[in-house]
Amino acid sequence: MDAEKQFRQVRSGQTHGGCVVTKTRQGRCLCRAVRFETSGDPKWVSFCHCESCRRALSAPVAAFASFSEDQVRFTGAAPQTFRSSPDVERAFCGQCGSPIWYRHDDLHGDYHLLLAAFEDDHDWQIEKHDFYGEHLPWLVVGDTLPKED
Ligand SMILES: [Zn+2]
Ligand SMILES: [Zn+2]
Repeated sequence: MDAEKQFRQVRSGQTHGGCVVTKTRQGRCLCRAVRFETSGDPKWVSFCHCESCRRALSAPVAAFASFSEDQVRFTGAAPQTFRSSPDVERAFCGQCGSPIWYRHDDLHGDYHLLLAAFEDDHDWQIEKHDFYGEHLPWLVVGDTLPKED
């Protein structure tokens, strides 16, 4: 087993027999056709203010939790996908249109799942604001998280 895979399994609590309870979370689109489940902790959780994310969501800001491919299981209808740039793919429900995830070709197939697609779960620790240089001027951000351009 390679070191990276082992690290991921430790993080998600899978190598300790029954001693560690692996956190699972469920998510879905508006119409419930697309459903997913994640296991273990996300690699990172952050806001994204880039224009591409904002346009894909028609929303003032996006919030994502990133999981490796082996931490995510899709249990409902397969989402539709769309390439928003040559190396970025975005997925949404083909029935109701809810955005579900984006993936970057360079990032080992990680799923960046929309935080708001998860069932109510208030234990997210959002780490930072990405592409803050592109943020909409009328969106007032009052937190003290790091803001990166
Ligand atoms: Zn749907
Ligand atoms: Zn973005």
